[in-house]
Amino acid sequence: MDVLIIGAGPAGMFAAEKLADETNHTITVIDMGKESVNRKCSTLSRDMCTKCEPCDIYAGVGGAGALSDGKLNLTPHIGGDPDSLHRSADEIRRYIQKVDETFLKYGADTDIFGVNDDDLNLLKRKASAHGIEFISGKQRHMGSDKTPLIIDKFYKELKQKGVKFRTQTKIETIERSGEGFIARTEGEAFKADFIIAAPGRAGAYWFRTQARKLGIDNKYGPIDVGVRVEFPSTIYEPIEEIMYDAKFKLYTYTYDDLVRTFCTNPCGFVTEERYPDFVMVNGHAKKDEKSENTNLAILSRIELTDPVEDTTEYGRSIARLATTIGGGKPILQRFKDLATGQRSTWTRLARCQIAPTLRNATPGDISMALPHRIVTNIVESIERLDNVIEGIASDSTLIYASEIKFYDTKYPVTEHLETNIPNLFVAGDASGHSRGIVYAAVTGILAAEGIVHKGE
Ligand SMILES: Cc1cc2nc3c(=O)[nH]c(=O)nc-3n(C[C@H](O)[C@H](O)[C@H](O)COP(=O)(O)OP(=O)(O)OC[C@H]3O[C@@H](n4cnc5c(N)ncnc54)[C@H](O)[C@@H]3O)c2cc1C
Repeated sequence: MDVLIIGAGPAGMFAAEKLADETNHTITVIDMGKESVNRKCSTLSRDMCTKCEPCDIYAGVGGAGALSDGKLNLTPHIGGDPDSLHRSADEIRRYIQKVDETFLKYGADTDIFGVNDDDLNLLKRKASAHGIEFISGKQRHMGSDKTPLIIDKFYKELKQKGVKFRTQTKIETIERSGEGFIARTEGEAFKADFIIAAPGRAGAYWFRTQARKLGIDNKYGPIDVGVRVEFPSTIYEPIEEIMYDAKFKLYTYTYDDLVRTFCTNPCGFVTEERYPDFVMVNGHAKKDEKSENTNLAILSRIELTDPVEDTTEYGRSIARLATTIGGGKPILQRFKDLATGQRSTWTRLARCQIAPTLRNATPGDISMALPHRIVTNIVESIERLDNVIEGIASDSTLIYASEIKFYDTKYPVTEHLETNIPNLFVAGDASGHSRGIVYAAVTGILAAEGIVHKGE
């Protein structure tokens, strides 16, 4: 039997491993990006973006996580939802352990964060006194400089086990053919009895078009729209000692909207995430090279109902507008300027206590780009978070726009992530059932397990 896996991110790689270990199927993994060790984003060394296509930040072996700092959230309560996978939290925990063991085997650091209950409870109490929920959980941090090497060892072992990889190869279309499928690139056709579609957020929009054509059911969910916030690393130190990437959640007083912090990078760097028609921001932290700043995302949840439900389109239009206002670059603004409604300039930014780690940005006015409701939510949230992350609402805190998390198209699936089209499985962030490396990997294993069972 032929299994085709679209996407060599954590979902695709962990699916390939399970299939290689437990079946005699021919497994081919296709990715439009490069091998992990050849992915070199110039912005990670703070050079100008060379606008490679597809962007090395999110495409290639290892997926979007390969050049990230690899914060592994080792709890079923971060990065996904056991209910949406028809599983109990304990079941998911067992899969998470397996994923963690694999990363450890290939060289992830043995240090674990978020294990001191007394400190965690203290932080929980402090946050809830201000109407903020602190979500705790164990975390491991691989580090941006280590993650590509860990991925490369995993990749080489998969190849030794007989998994075939095709990099720099983009699947354009998927068609049904009898009980199986044909996936086509511009010049080649791949026959498959089973497909696991794991194209990540970068390929989610593309896959949605294919899914509609194939008659795969889907539902619209929310997206998270917001900014990346950067401040002196000393401000975050007391929290970092308790949990490396602490997650905070609150409902704004003004709109009663959910806002959350996401992907905190102590002593990290803000980076660009470039797509064909817009640019967004993200952040990462390195194990060996440290900046004087810490960054995190502040994201406001958007759900749309009748007559417009397509949150992806809405989010994309916000990203395009922000890119236009930034002249093709992310917009950068001091918190003081955002809160008081004035544009930032390099002269005003020079008065900040910190220097931006992403220089390839345009000083401007984020309120010209993001909807008023989101800007209000962001300003209010930063002011409230100041009670927990003391100093984050300082005048010279830097705000970059936009950062948008697209995982709104959700496919109703079985407990093995099979869609309503038999033998077509989805996994990872593009499935709408994961939002991070570990959960993406778990969904990959679950999908592979579904194929293993079919052969029994
Ligand atoms: C800068 C950055 C930092 C991050 N940091 C963290 C972190 O610290 N911790 C964490 O948990 N998460 C982090 N994330 C998110 C995490 O990387 C993703 O949640 C995770 O990688 C999703 O895994 P996936 O396998 O679903 O998809 P991806 O990792 O996105 O992989 C999908 C792959 O599919 C390929 N692809 C897409 N379409 C096609 C096509 N048509 N044909 C062929 N190939 C295709 C892409 O090239 C890509 O390599 C970060 C993301 C970014 C961008």
